[in-house]
Amino acid sequence: MFRPLGKKQLLLAALLLAGLGATLWYAAHYSELTAVAELRDTADNRLLLYESTFHSALNRYQYLPYILATNQEIHQLLERGGDPLHINGYLEAVNAEAGPASIYIMNPQGVTVASSNWRTPQSYVGHDFSFRPYFRDAMKGSRGIFYGLGVNTKLPGFFFSCPISQDNRLIGAAVVKVELKRLQKEWREGGETVFVTDQNGVIVLATREEWVYRSLTPHGQETLARIQSQEQYRGVSLSVLPALPTQRAGMTELAMGSERFLMGSRPLEHLGWHIHYLAPAHFVDEQIRGVTIIAVAAFALLVLLGLLARANHQRKVSRQKAIEAKRIHQINQQLEAEIAERRRKEQELRETHDELIHAGQMAALGQMAASVAHELNQPLAAIRMFSANCRVMLQRGQTEPVLDNLGTIHDLTGRLAAVASQLKSFSRKSPSQKEGMDLRRSMDNALALLRHQAETMGCQIKMTQPDDPLMVRGIPMHMDQVFVNLLQNSLDAIREAPAKVVRIELRQSLGHAEAVIQDSGPGLAPEAQERLFSPFFTTKEPGHGLGLGLSIIHGIIRDMNCEIRGENPEGGGACFTVRLPLL
Ligand code: ADP
Repeated sequence: MFRPLGKKQLLLAALLLAGLGATLWYAAHYSELTAVAELRDTADNRLLLYESTFHSALNRYQYLPYILATNQEIHQLLERGGDPLHINGYLEAVNAEAGPASIYIMNPQGVTVASSNWRTPQSYVGHDFSFRPYFRDAMKGSRGIFYGLGVNTKLPGFFFSCPISQDNRLIGAAVVKVELKRLQKEWREGGETVFVTDQNGVIVLATREEWVYRSLTPHGQETLARIQSQEQYRGVSLSVLPALPTQRAGMTELAMGSERFLMGSRPLEHLGWHIHYLAPAHFVDEQIRGVTIIAVAAFALLVLLGLLARANHQRKVSRQKAIEAKRIHQINQQLEAEIAERRRKEQELRETHDELIHAGQMAALGQMAASVAHELNQPLAAIRMFSANCRVMLQRGQTEPVLDNLGTIHDLTGRLAAVASQLKSFSRKSPSQKEGMDLRRSMDNALALLRHQAETMGCQIKMTQPDDPLMVRGIPMHMDQVFVNLLQNSLDAIREAPAKVVRIELRQSLGHAEAVIQDSGPGLAPEAQERLFSPFFTTKEPGHGLGLGLSIIHGIIRDMNCEIRGENPEGGGACFTVRLPLL
């Protein structure tokens, strides 16, 4: 199924394409440079070889005219004339032995007086070649060299001339014509493409016959006129090869029809000629193609390896992810189980907590029993005394004081009833319904329970509270118990203290109600500060504390969304602050 490519993938594809392009360009460029350089080396080597064969083909005959020029019989022929038969025979024999194309002697007018080809229809004897440059050079006293088509034979060749002089007089010229047919044949058999151009750029020697007398560039008028005057290439039309020369990596490239060559050239010394070697350009193209294919294959291989590595990595990643997911699933399951267990424990704890609260109440009740007994004893003793008094008064017939006494007894029973009602409230399990309540009331209730204990200990309770009710939302019984526990702890703490003071402050602060209970005891022990609200933590003697008081308080406070903190204030002792939102 087709899926649109993402930004990252598009970028990667673009990078890959760019990389491929760069690789192709570099491979093509580099291989072209190296292939052309290789070809240039080959061309240079081959040219050296061809040049040496060319020179040796010529040098072989260059001495001949000079030897002929010293021949006395030839001198005599030129000086005295007569029948050249003898000389013709001599020249014919030398030519047959040495091997150039022809040998001939010219008189100072440029007419051939004797020739090695005197027997053939193309015999030079009697012919005037005074227009030829080699003759003119000889008549100037120097040796001449000229390349051109034979006027009689129509065959091309080199003409070497040497002046013949007698007593410092120029009496004629000895000429040797060398045809390079053999050399050309040898070159052609080599199968390579080589050609030689003369000083005018005319191809005079070529392994391809059809190129002879043609040129790579057109000739100027002046050049054409000079060639004509010397009859160098008489009867031949000089044309331009249909070659398109361009430059390629430092070499000249020739495009001729469907063929393309890279050309290396070298000058031929003394002649002003050039020899050229043509190497087929398709070698370079093939090398470029080969290297490019290898480069593309290498690039493709690299990409493939990259893709494989990526796929491998992705497989690893997904395997890792699967393992991770499985692990997370297991952890989740474990967590779920733990949460369920925790909920169950919480439920258990809550139930235990409620039990504890109740148990705490019962414990407080027990503790209170002594003070309650004391509270009850006093009014009961008084009632007994007053009722005995009443009996005596009635026996005496004094009704007035009896009435006073009954009034006092009534008051005393009221006090007893009050104590009984507080006891009742502690003996039953607290309702768990929250309601609006006055914090001052809870504190009063707590104090009522503990006042007797405080007085017995000689403890001074200093209380500050607002005149208006401090209304909060909570369970009144629970709040009473919070204060009872806190006050009980304070009383326990100051039992041995030199000054026994408990300060209670109820106040409003930023939308909250605060109850602060501070005592003049030794303050919270360091270990107590760390585990203050942990259940069963106590620093009290066995039998004096269970370590449940603050834990119960903490539970109650948390249920009511309030805060409690215990600390050692600067003035000494311990200080507990309960803070809850105002209703
Ligand atoms: P208990 O009173 O049974 O020891 P609590 O939970 O009420 O259990 O208290 C735990 C501990 O906190 C106490 O043993 C005591 O060390 C410390 N503590 C509580 N209130 C005070 C206080 N007002 N002064 C000093 N220490 C206190």
